[in-house]
Amino acid sequence: MAGIKFDHVWKRFGEVSVLKDLNIDIPDQEFLVLVGPSGCGKSTALRCLAGLEEITDGNIYIGDRVVNDVPPKDRDIAMVFQSYALYPHMSVYDNMAFGLKLRKTPKAEIDKRVKEAAELLSIGHLLDRKPKALSGGQRQRVALGRAIVRNPAVFLMDEPLSNLDAKLRVQTRGEISKLHQRLKTTFIYVTHDQVEAMTMGSRIAVMKDGILQQLDTPQTLYDHPANMFVAGFIGSPS
Ligand code: ADP
Ligand code: MG
Repeated sequence: MAGIKFDHVWKRFGEVSVLKDLNIDIPDQEFLVLVGPSGCGKSTALRCLAGLEEITDGNIYIGDRVVNDVPPKDRDIAMVFQSYALYPHMSVYDNMAFGLKLRKTPKAEIDKRVKEAAELLSIGHLLDRKPKALSGGQRQRVALGRAIVRNPAVFLMDEPLSNLDAKLRVQTRGEISKLHQRLKTTFIYVTHDQVEAMTMGSRIAVMKDGILQQLDTPQTLYDHPANMFVAGFIGSPS
């Protein structure tokens, strides 16, 4: 388990600054939603935290540790994307077990973790199937399961529901919230959907053009938006 801190983080691609002095402090076990229009830098922020991009300036902390130079595999983070990228030739069980096998986890331990995660996600009856025999929602659960079995300190989700239809999206939102309550780990959930942000986040970070506009509870964002952009984006009456 671990809190997260973006401390004056800058990310430039060539001449272009995509993250501009980003400061976000996320306590251990919080469910933080990062929201903002397409292209504002949400995925880049997550990729920097996961170690998939190097930051240009500032520090990123996981717990008490500055992780700027820590390779992705040593950051104790799991990331779930909108494209599930399951291995098509492997069963659900093997898809979920794969990462643990690579880490030389004992077989009995793998079995226990895969079955527990499958139970938690209500996919216990699908373990023998191949991904092509699953619905979109079921595939997304397998992708979640693959992250859960690793027991990460931090979960990053980058628009994980955007490939699902509206009804399934609402249902899966609720399940992800429950998952957070059960696992008691830090979650950062990225979306460009205001409604999703307002219903899921205990706090919400609103970004625009690489700059954090406001970080507050849904209620405070709605009642006291920091500027016109936040007011318009969140849809509050002021
Ligand atoms: P979001 O996830 O909020 O839609 P991104 O973080 O994907 O936004 O992108 C933020 C900005 O950074 C965009 O303008 C995008 O074109 C740019 N960008 C992202 N990755 C790269 C890259 N590897 N090289 C150059 N520009 C990039
Ligand atoms: Mg993105």
